[in-house]
Amino acid sequence: TDNDQQCEITFKSINFSYPNQPLIILKDINFQIKNGEHVALIGQTGCGKSTLLNLITRTWQPTNGTIMLNQIDISQFSEPALRNMMSVVPQVIHIFNDTLRNNLLIGNQYANDAQLISVLKKVELDKLLSTEQGLNLWLGESGRTLSGGERRRIGIARALLHNAPLILLDEPTESLDNQTEQQILSIIKENYADKTLIMITHRLIHQALFDCTYLLENNTIKKINN
Ligand code: ATP
Ligand code: MG
Repeated sequence: TDNDQQCEITFKSINFSYPNQPLIILKDINFQIKNGEHVALIGQTGCGKSTLLNLITRTWQPTNGTIMLNQIDISQFSEPALRNMMSVVPQVIHIFNDTLRNNLLIGNQYANDAQLISVLKKVELDKLLSTEQGLNLWLGESGRTLSGGERRRIGIARALLHNAPLILLDEPTESLDNQTEQQILSIIKENYADKTLIMITHRLIHQALFDCTYLLENNTIKKINN
């Protein structure tokens, strides 16, 4: 249905502390992100940005409050239904000791080689295909080592193959040079133009690319219109 292609996010009175930890991370967080909105999430290191994304992915459960996707409490979703709603590009991209093909199929196990090649071109990683091995190129510990920028692109390629209505990106350009950063941001913006997007970023310079910015500070969130 059409609804599967949309994603609106609502946080209602969310409180969060890690289990058995006295420290309060999030306190009475309320906000709504409309379908198709592109949101930057900023705040000092350790303020809880990754934690907030990890509540949306249900890696952690809120201590109190409700998170809704399309007005449905995420605790009601089956695991596969929740996975179908979102693509996640985590802060650290894990490369498995396996072929390039299998490293990409983490995003979508049903993708065929033509789709994998097309997505590698999109993220400008097609130079990895220049060897005789093609998609059988071995990556990871016993294979070709990828640079920081190449790892990020693999993470984005996986998300593109998944093709969900919501994309969550945790510092996708951290520690990249300016040119690589610009390339990666334009790939993301082009491919997610119509989708709901939340990107954690330290760099205020990127705010102009987003519809609005949320600042996480003192356990609470403040919306700044760009
Ligand atoms: P950064 O910008 O450095 O990535 P962040 O805003 O993403 O920081 P989080 O990783 O969400 O911050 O961490 C928020 C707080 O929660 C920190 O004080 C951190 O030490 C704590 N924390 C994170 N993960 C856990 C965990 N698994 N158990 C207990 N405390 C945690
Ligand atoms: Mg983080």
